[in-house]
Amino acid sequence: MKFSVVRTLGFYLGGIRTAWGGRRRIEAKQLKNLRHLVKKAREDSPYFHDLYADLPDTDVIKLSDLPTSSKLDLMADFDRWLTDRSLTLAQARQHMESMDNLGVPIGDYAVFRTSGTSGEPAVIVISAPMLELIFGLTLARMSRTQFQFARKIERSGANVIITGGNGHFIGAGFDLLRQNLKIPLKREFKFIPAEQAIDQTVKQLNEITSMASIVTYPSMLTILTREQELGRLHIEPVAIKVAGETFAPELRERAQKAFPSLQFDILDAYGCTECLAMAFECDCGRQHVSEDWVILEAVDENHQAVADGTLSATALLTVLGNETQPFIRYDLGDRLRFYTDPCPCGSPFRSFQVEGRQATVVRVADVTLSPLAFDLEHEAAQRVQMIQTSEDVFEIRAELLTDANPDQVFEQVIQSASEVFVKNGLTGVKVHQSDAAPQLTPSGKFHEVISLH
Ligand SMILES: [Zn+2]
Repeated sequence: MKFSVVRTLGFYLGGIRTAWGGRRRIEAKQLKNLRHLVKKAREDSPYFHDLYADLPDTDVIKLSDLPTSSKLDLMADFDRWLTDRSLTLAQARQHMESMDNLGVPIGDYAVFRTSGTSGEPAVIVISAPMLELIFGLTLARMSRTQFQFARKIERSGANVIITGGNGHFIGAGFDLLRQNLKIPLKREFKFIPAEQAIDQTVKQLNEITSMASIVTYPSMLTILTREQELGRLHIEPVAIKVAGETFAPELRERAQKAFPSLQFDILDAYGCTECLAMAFECDCGRQHVSEDWVILEAVDENHQAVADGTLSATALLTVLGNETQPFIRYDLGDRLRFYTDPCPCGSPFRSFQVEGRQATVVRVADVTLSPLAFDLEHEAAQRVQMIQTSEDVFEIRAELLTDANPDQVFEQVIQSASEVFVKNGLTGVKVHQSDAAPQLTPSGKFHEVISLH
C-alpha cells in the first residue's frame, strides 16, 4: 500500500474545481463517478455482476435503477463482493486477530471492522486511492475557520484521541495507519482507551500540561463534561471534535460552558468506517454531503425517497471513490433530514441533520420511555448504567469513586429510576443493584440505558 501526495493533491484540486462549478458540475461529476463505479463493480465483483445482470447498460444507468444492498448480504458474500480476488475475508479476519496489526496494511489494503452494534461487524477495506480521496476531499471542503483550527492545534500542545481500543476500529487505527504510510501531519496523537476506568482517564488528562484537542465520542464527552463541572477534571483544550454518535445540541451547549478554554465551536464529524469523508460540517453547523464522491439518500422503511424536511427511516450510502469494496445504495441505518433551504454558508452541496440511530427506547408492557426520562447521574459515580434484563426487571451498574459509599449511591439511583417507572404507571418494575462493571459497545461507546429490545 503506497500513499501518493500527488494524487491527494489531485483530489484536493478536483474537489475545489467541482465546488466552484456549482450544482451543474457537482451533478455531472457524481453521475460520471457513479457510472465508473458501476462499470468496475459489474466487471470485477462477481456479487455485483450477478446483482446487476438485468440492469440497463452502464453508460445510461441512473442511481434509481440500482437495487439497494445490505451489510448482511454483502458480508455473507464478502469474497465475491470485492473487485480484487487477492484479499479474502479469512485473511482479513486473521490479520485483525492480533492488535499488533492495528493500522498495519495487508498487501495493498488497510482493513478495519465496524463495531457491530447493529448486528454482525462489517470488515472494511481501504485502498490507497480511497485514502488519498479522504485526505484530498477533507482539505478541499474545509472552511477558513477550520484551516485556522487545524493550524492552531498543531501549535498548541497534545492532541488526544479517546476511543475504543479493543479491536481493529478506525478511531484508534487511522492515525497508526497514517504513521505506517508516512503520511505527513504536523500533530501527534495520544491515544486513551475509552474502556478504561474514568478515574484513570481523568488522571491521565490532568497530567497533560498543554492540551490542544480532544477527539472522542459524544458519550465520552458527556462524562468528561461532568467531571470538569465537578472539578475532578481540570483541562483547558483549545478544540474538541466528536464523532461516531449523535451529538445533541444540549451536550454541545453544556460542554462549551464547561470548557471555556475552547477557541472553536465543537466540531461534529459525521462519518462511518465505510466512508470517513461522508460529509463535512460548515461554520453554520450544518452537515453537507460531498456529493461529487458520496451519495446519501434519505429513505423510508421500503427504501423509497422521503421529501426534504422529512426525517428518514434510514439512509442509503454510495461511496463513489471505493472501487475495491463497492458500497452502492448501502443501508446505513442512520436517520437523516435534509434541509429544504440552501445553507447560509453558501455551499452548493446539500445539507442535512443527523438524528442518528433510532433512540434505544425502553419498553415495559405497553409503555414506551425515552432513556432521557431517567436521571442516572450521581456525583459519587463516574458512569452509571441501567440495563433491562427482562421485561420488567432492570439492573443498575456503576463505576464509583473510591471514597464513595456504594450502598448509598445505588439506593439513590435505584430510587430515582423506580420513581420514573411508578410515575408512568409501571408499579411492578423491579430495579436492583449489580456489581458488574458498566457495559460498553465493542468500539467503546457508552450507553446510559440498554433496553432488552
Ligand atoms: Zn453550510
